[in-house]
Amino acid sequence: AQERYTSIRDLPAQARCGSVVSLQMNAGLMADLPSLDGSGADGVGLFRTELQFLVRNQMPKRSELSALYARVLDAAHGKRVVFRTLDIGSDKVLPYMKPNDEPNPALGWRAIRVGLDKPGVMRMQLQALIRAANGRSLTVMFPFVAQFEEFRAARAEVDKAMERERILGHPLPEKLEIGAMLETPSLAFAPQKFFEEVEFLSIGGNDLKQFFFAADRENERVRRRYDTLNVSFLTFLEGIVKRCEETDTPVSFCGEDAGRPVEALCFAAIGLRTLSMRPASIGPVKSLLRRCNLEDVRKVINEARDAGEMSVRSAVMEYVRSQHQ
Ligand code: PEP
Ligand code: MG
Repeated sequence: AQERYTSIRDLPAQARCGSVVSLQMNAGLMADLPSLDGSGADGVGLFRTELQFLVRNQMPKRSELSALYARVLDAAHGKRVVFRTLDIGSDKVLPYMKPNDEPNPALGWRAIRVGLDKPGVMRMQLQALIRAANGRSLTVMFPFVAQFEEFRAARAEVDKAMERERILGHPLPEKLEIGAMLETPSLAFAPQKFFEEVEFLSIGGNDLKQFFFAADRENERVRRRYDTLNVSFLTFLEGIVKRCEETDTPVSFCGEDAGRPVEALCFAAIGLRTLSMRPASIGPVKSLLRRCNLEDVRKVINEARDAGEMSVRSAVMEYVRSQHQ
């Protein structure tokens, strides 16, 4: 099926209105990297670092991590790789960490909360990343930031790690970008200053949607109950895009929905111009984007909203079908 898309692999994801959407890929293993060329992705928009921690029975060593991250950067041939720091939770327990008995693990001690409370692992990981970059550009993203202070504290850890590496005589990255994932609704309402300070944001739609609708992403009974193209959720995403536009903060979307063509089309239409997805989705998403006019899609969305629709899906689907004729 992927062969259908090879003819557009090296073409931009340019819609008929002229707007270009940057399509990036999500990865988590060294084995994912060959897909960077195969899929035509513009870069790695999300590199999930937890897999290396989950597949072992002891904490990986800094030197092992650094070697792996260096190989990832080598394989990317200068394309940007967004390394997300360890995103473990009490549901994703490392076999060598004391388990936590929490009543609501998704709302519990996870991701950046662990990183800030027990900074040893995060410091080790930041050092490994700086060493892996070995003077090249480095992009780091913190998961599950719920308030500005958490981002500031995490950023301070990066500054400390840079200073330590400098003293040790290791080359520092020529360019360092520090961003955050927006996956809790609270962060969308952070003070203006947060949007000014953060260098980029990536919307983690899997978590953001589960918290927006209060519907557990792991619970089969409720997880598909609320449509991503629900007017409430799209309006919320639009608000985030608007705040980012006001502060010139680059924003992308990296949840699973970015890889669903109709969802991706709507995200692009409301102004999300960087989408990160599994490599196999890049072809289908690009193919649809190239057939559509984002300004028209935006009109369709607005009309459906004004007409009081619960979701814009059927209206957008109707538009998409009309583009085939
Ligand atoms: C997300 O929450 O949308 C996301 C990309 O992160 P993960 O799926 O790893 O939680
Ligand atoms: Mg998440």
